[in-house]
Amino acid sequence: MATKAEELKEKLFFKQDNAYDKMDEAQRAQMQQYAAGYMSFLGQAKTEREAVRAAVRMAEERGYRAYSFGDAVKPGDKFYFNNRGKSIYLFRIGSEPIEQGIRISAAHIDSPRIDLKQHPVYEDGGMGFFKTHYYGGIKKYQWTAIPLSLHGVITKADGQTIDFNIGEDEGDPVFYINDLLPHLAQEQMRKTMAEGISGESLNLLIGSEPYPDADASERIKLNLLNLLNQKYGITEADFMSAEISAVPAFRPREIGFDRSLIGAYGHDDRVCAYPSLTALFETEDSRHTCMAILADKEETGSDGNTGMKTWCFVDIINELARSLGGNPNTVRMNSKCLSADVNAAFDPNYPEVFERRNASHINEGVVLTKFTGARGKSGTNDASAEFVGYVRNIFDKAGVVWQTAELGKVDVGGGGTVAMYISKKNIDVVDLGVAVVSMHAPYEVIAKSDLYMTHRAIAAFFQ
Ligand code: MN
Ligand code: MN
Repeated sequence: MATKAEELKEKLFFKQDNAYDKMDEAQRAQMQQYAAGYMSFLGQAKTEREAVRAAVRMAEERGYRAYSFGDAVKPGDKFYFNNRGKSIYLFRIGSEPIEQGIRISAAHIDSPRIDLKQHPVYEDGGMGFFKTHYYGGIKKYQWTAIPLSLHGVITKADGQTIDFNIGEDEGDPVFYINDLLPHLAQEQMRKTMAEGISGESLNLLIGSEPYPDADASERIKLNLLNLLNQKYGITEADFMSAEISAVPAFRPREIGFDRSLIGAYGHDDRVCAYPSLTALFETEDSRHTCMAILADKEETGSDGNTGMKTWCFVDIINELARSLGGNPNTVRMNSKCLSADVNAAFDPNYPEVFERRNASHINEGVVLTKFTGARGKSGTNDASAEFVGYVRNIFDKAGVVWQTAELGKVDVGGGGTVAMYISKKNIDVVDLGVAVVSMHAPYEVIAKSDLYMTHRAIAAFFQ
């Protein structure tokens, strides 16, 4: 028989669920199927441009149409607004008045990577290279000595823009950043990890064969530019108007004997972007107007016209309010948003940076992060108790396994999301997403169950 203390504990203490204890056979099968769909999406969406393309494909298959400013909208309509091919807003107009607000899930589709400089091509010491400038927060040493693929676009002198994508297909060559052999790395190994590899040494190895003219100079560079000219019709000057990124050439794989984890490049934040899309598509019968936003530039501070600080977001809400006969200020005031972004999963190999009681754990469900920021909550949205309570209630009713966490110990570091830029527009926002192991590494890890719970959480919010 349970003692009085045990009974009281049962009643009063909070107990965190593990997602596996809350899923029946059917749900586990759904989770597996969902994870397979995600892995296929992730494999073809390694940059923001590719993620937008994949989102447009998925949306059009489900009857979404391209939206332009000024288009009239009515309940039941399904639209997407493609912002310059790098960010996308998908929305479905609900039957309730637009002044009731919009249910929004905002994730980002850019990830840390290595961008080419505008004058990238050179040769040195018998090797051809591209000069690079890294994008987002990376630990530079992780990006050397791994296979990298190139993704992006080049706008030529005549204004024509061509796609550039090499290194993903089985037969493609890949690219590489050299590192020093341990035998000669005594000096390097004494440096801090931040200094061991410098930004200017992240040069991409792209070839070594000289142009067949022994009297010519810069023969390797010449041979490489000749190859690129034959294949793409470009010259060295065209790199000035190009956006090309080197990303890990790894494909998403299951990790572990039990296959419960997924390893991939760019989980942050496509692991929240994909559920934002699937949740929007799944909740077609909602009376609410719902919107999924896939934003660019989060990893560099959300600036630029494709980042979450852009006016484009407010412009779209203004347009919808105008067309549906609502006050746009009231629409924003009554809108509710999930800032769908990842959290740092507790890692038992590095327990010193986490505070266990307030860290996210893999397989404990979607992570609700009330505030981000650094030090004394500097640079954060900090959702209200009322809004967290509102969201909590939705998840509990829908049987979603969820947890709450902050990002690491107080004063150890910190981070931000798009939440603060959305709440600035007078919208209620809270952060929500998947716990990631080795965040921002070339190959990150997440748990399938957390991915699946994130989809269910966003779907319940839209419903
Ligand atoms: Mn993120
Ligand atoms: Mn990030």
